[in-house]
Amino acid sequence: MMSTIEKTDSEWRQQLSPETYHVTREHGTERAGTSPLNQEKRHGMFHCVGCGNAVFPSDAKFESGTGWPSFYEPVAPHSIGTTIDHKFFMTRTEVHCADCNSHLGHVFPDGPKPTGLRYCINGVALEFMPEDEDE
Ligand SMILES: [Zn+2]
Repeated sequence: MMSTIEKTDSEWRQQLSPETYHVTREHGTERAGTSPLNQEKRHGMFHCVGCGNAVFPSDAKFESGTGWPSFYEPVAPHSIGTTIDHKFFMTRTEVHCADCNSHLGHVFPDGPKPTGLRYCINGVALEFMPEDEDE
């Protein structure tokens, strides 16, 4: 697995809150409905909490009803990476930041048009930066 940002485990523990560390470095999942980003409706960009890499645009966000921030596509194909995950006897596609390898969530083939994909992302793995509406 190649990523451009390499940090030691203790560096990540210092940088991240315990919950964020658990989700992004140990492939955890936040409790559904707990992320304030579920309600985030402003125009802007969602960045990787580990390194600030832009990962999902607000334009691709949709209300999935799952309790996790959901997107139908990343900001660019190379901004994220995916791996097949066989946890819990299910085959799922894991989604991570292409730059620092932080685990973000999973992608499922039951999303809306135009991609038909549903990127189900942990809010704690994201940092939202609103765009200035006047620009
Ligand atoms: Zn990152």
